[in-house]
Amino acid sequence: MSSQALPEDLVELERPALEAALEARGHRGFHARQIFGWVYRIGVTDVSSMTDLSRELRALLAAEFAIRTPAIVQRDKSVDGTEKFLLKLVDGRTVESVFIPDTPSMTFCISTQVGCAMACAFCLTGRMGLVRNLTAGEIVGQVRVLADALHMRDVHFNIVLMGMGEPLHNYDATMKALRILADEHGFNMSPRRITLSTVGILPALEKLAREPIMPNLAISLHAPTDAQRGDLVPLNRKYGVNDIIAVCKRFPLKRRHRITFEYVLLAGVNDRPEDARRLAKLLAGVKSKVNLIPLNAAPGIPFERPSDDAIDRFARVLADHDLVVSVRKSRGRDIRAACGQLIVESERKSAAQQLAVMM
Ligand code: SAH
Repeated sequence: MSSQALPEDLVELERPALEAALEARGHRGFHARQIFGWVYRIGVTDVSSMTDLSRELRALLAAEFAIRTPAIVQRDKSVDGTEKFLLKLVDGRTVESVFIPDTPSMTFCISTQVGCAMACAFCLTGRMGLVRNLTAGEIVGQVRVLADALHMRDVHFNIVLMGMGEPLHNYDATMKALRILADEHGFNMSPRRITLSTVGILPALEKLAREPIMPNLAISLHAPTDAQRGDLVPLNRKYGVNDIIAVCKRFPLKRRHRITFEYVLLAGVNDRPEDARRLAKLLAGVKSKVNLIPLNAAPGIPFERPSDDAIDRFARVLADHDLVVSVRKSRGRDIRAACGQLIVESERKSAAQQLAVMM
């Protein structure tokens, strides 16, 4: 190792890679299981406290590896119990993660990128542009930090990849993070407790369909036609509604499982009964459930939240067409932790320019 190289970050390694790293240094690979237990199951990152490892191995770990953990720089609690964490990464960049104490299940809303390149018209994170991808260790690191801060190491929780960023635009790190979270010697999370939400980057979606670890899938649809969706989700100009639905129809689903279609309701834009009827027609034959998200309005977002009557009417049309439909409750709006409100002002960049590069 050169004197300038940073020590290897242990939390960037999947267990087989950690086993190989230990073996390469003359130790037995199975110690990786114990280390995973300490770091992910128990929440100990100080190797000197890993008391079932030999002194020699602890010394080696301390000398040659780091265990980097995002630092909490701000923590806000909403009147509804939702908590937002601003976390600082090793390079000083920051991301937000949100804890939603819904009954009966607890949910961590986790970020996959600093900022986002997708530039959806109603989303504040999209205004930042993409600053950088998170590493797998940083994605899982948010889960470690929240589990500790909330004393939830021994509590079951769900994870939604619905924080900042587009998970399929950071595919490899996201999948690696899912494998680390699923490791039976670590968090041992069932992929059924994890939901990946995406605008629908088609080639990545097709790749996801072949993954051994399969999270629940949520598609941010928001409109039933290309004409409408193209104005809201710029990437739709590349991957259109019908192509996305076609992939969803082929997507391997376990029995009784459904793909969630998220639909942000914008007054006068996509909330008319005829939009609902078009949506119902589009989703006919898809194992779907529709999650309506009334817009979380914010200064600078050029849309309005529909009236409760309009939301009810829209939901009723879908239900009348035999769709499973729910309306997402807005949580943590008073601390700007609700969907689409995550933004770190200092990291702002031009999203439009970056998207032009992608398309
Ligand atoms: N990039 C991914 C995941 C992050 S966004 C995706 O697009 O799915 C998580 C959800 O919040 C998406 O459905 C997104 O469209 C929605 N959202 C974004 N801004 C919002 C806002 N202002 N009000 C309500 N929902 C919003």
